[in-house]
Amino acid sequence: MNSELYLDANATSPVLPAAIEAATTAMHTCFGNPSSSHAAGLRAKALLDGTRALARRVLGAATGRVMFTSGATEGIQTAVLSALCAVRERRLHGEVCGDLLLYGATEHKAVPESLAHWNRLLGLNLELRALPVGADGRHRLDVLRELAPRAAFVCTMAANNETGVVSDLDGIAAVLKESASPALWMVDCVQTLGKLPLQLDRSRIDYAPFSGHKLYAPKGIGLLYVREGAPYTPLMCGGGQEAGQRSGTENMSGIAALGAVLAALEAGGTFRTHGQLLAMRERLAAALLNAFPGLVFNAPLAQTLPTTLNFSVPGVSSKELLDVFDAAGVRVSAGSACSASKAAPSYVLDAMGVPAACSASAVRLSFGPLADEAFIEAACERILRCGHALLEARPAAMLQQLESFGASGWLLFDEAGSACIAIDPPAALAPRIAAGLRACCCRLLACFDTSHGAGGADALGELMNVTPGWPGEGAGIALGQDLLVQRGDAFLFGRARDGVLALADVRFVFGASNLDGVAGSALCCHRIGEPAVSRPGIDPLPDEGIDLDAVSAAAYLESHPDALLVDVRELPEHTAGAARLHGRAALHVPLSELAGRAAQWLDQPRPLVFVCRSGNRSARAARTLRRLGHAQCWHVAGGLALAG
Ligand code: PLP
Repeated sequence: MNSELYLDANATSPVLPAAIEAATTAMHTCFGNPSSSHAAGLRAKALLDGTRALARRVLGAATGRVMFTSGATEGIQTAVLSALCAVRERRLHGEVCGDLLLYGATEHKAVPESLAHWNRLLGLNLELRALPVGADGRHRLDVLRELAPRAAFVCTMAANNETGVVSDLDGIAAVLKESASPALWMVDCVQTLGKLPLQLDRSRIDYAPFSGHKLYAPKGIGLLYVREGAPYTPLMCGGGQEAGQRSGTENMSGIAALGAVLAALEAGGTFRTHGQLLAMRERLAAALLNAFPGLVFNAPLAQTLPTTLNFSVPGVSSKELLDVFDAAGVRVSAGSACSASKAAPSYVLDAMGVPAACSASAVRLSFGPLADEAFIEAACERILRCGHALLEARPAAMLQQLESFGASGWLLFDEAGSACIAIDPPAALAPRIAAGLRACCCRLLACFDTSHGAGGADALGELMNVTPGWPGEGAGIALGQDLLVQRGDAFLFGRARDGVLALADVRFVFGASNLDGVAGSALCCHRIGEPAVSRPGIDPLPDEGIDLDAVSAAAYLESHPDALLVDVRELPEHTAGAARLHGRAALHVPLSELAGRAAQWLDQPRPLVFVCRSGNRSARAARTLRRLGHAQCWHVAGGLALAG
């Protein structure tokens, strides 16, 4: 198993050892309630006050309010509530204060969602308007200049979490200053703490939320700065803690841990300097360019945080890249952690006008200012390994499934892998298929769509210089010793005898199912639906009970020496890091090649245990085999991620 290299610091960071120690000490010896008047309470109060004073120094906020929150989402919420209550007040007094709530188009979702929420709850009916960004990801100051006179409240982040683009805060401040009735201004500073210098009380910023877990403090602790004189309304009322600004007994262990991080920032020496971080990122950028020819960065590096790289590899989806990185033990993400579980393209890259193809392939790599040379060295080496894994991937299977948006196409190879036929290739995958075939010097003999095809054969044919379409009625295409022939709607493939394919020798059927006379072991390969293959005349077995957790999988493998452990991850992932489970090496059969192998497992049944990264693909593999009639197949739920 690879050691883990965590390069997703913009999502969250590990906890600084000194912060763990400070939190533990706070729980052991400083557990008092800071509102209590006895000695235990006074000790806690001293810790609270000391940490706030430290925060003021680090943030450059000698004046104004600095309060502890549960994190940036709460800070944002409080700032939005405060600003919107002030707008309501001003309106009630007949003051003109603008009708727009303006927020940067690339803000974290916490901002527009909070604006919409409180606008609705307070019945303000202000118009929410996204302030566009340019191709460089920075706010369009010309548009801001136009809209500022109408703005009641403006929200712009200091640096973006997906791209690392650093905002031109001086430019925004200057534009806001020009306006006759300057709007209130919130700057989400989450991604800048510890990476860029801050001097809040010298700025015009009214509200600045921070989050501890983005800089080596634990989750659940944050800070909110409010400029002196800026309107304030508490979000939480109760016992009057935090001078009545934020009720609720303070999270003392979190505050102590955040204090340790702030102390390290103030003292210097723990975190890398801006110049050192830039040099580290340069090395990572060079390794990426070296590893993935054609790689593009999605934001100009000169205007981004020195710890963030957002890039795309043309023709390779984010999902594929993440799978390869994950297999190599490199933890990166496709965008913000909050949207990682949603398949939607990045609204941040969309707002920058990044082409859809690039956005579909985007990956964010981010590291924290605690990184050292050895870590960067290891990351560069691992990145190169991922690049090789992706380039070396070549189709070795007889039958490969091409999957795109729920539709399947198929590539049939000869045994040497030197020639192939494409059936119903998805148009969106045509460039990938062409590049893959060229990379392994595989000749495309023919490409065609069956009657249910999606028309991708034209696109692939053009790229590979092959005339698309079936060669003609009564024709057959030879592939080594095998033959593909047409029978009505169906295309039949199998071993030819004396140049003729008998129905009893058919192995795969495309374009139709239920053909009389075809061998019972033949697999019908579908264009739509799961499973993508079926066996006519076979009753599918139920797929309940296919899950084995890591412990029961180990026990099963131990008690069934004949069981085959099968890694169904794609080849680049396997190349980046081979799968093992409890000392047993897995046979590698990627999900895309499962149909080709299924026939063999059905002919000679033996217990099968499928495994993949997270358990999704292995569950599909086990379901597919059950539906083909294989009774003894299971998968490792949770995958290598939990079993490792
Ligand atoms: N703002 C930005 C720019 C962020 O990256 C995040 C974290 O994902 C947040 C706000 C929300 O922070 P928290 O997780 O502390 O609520």
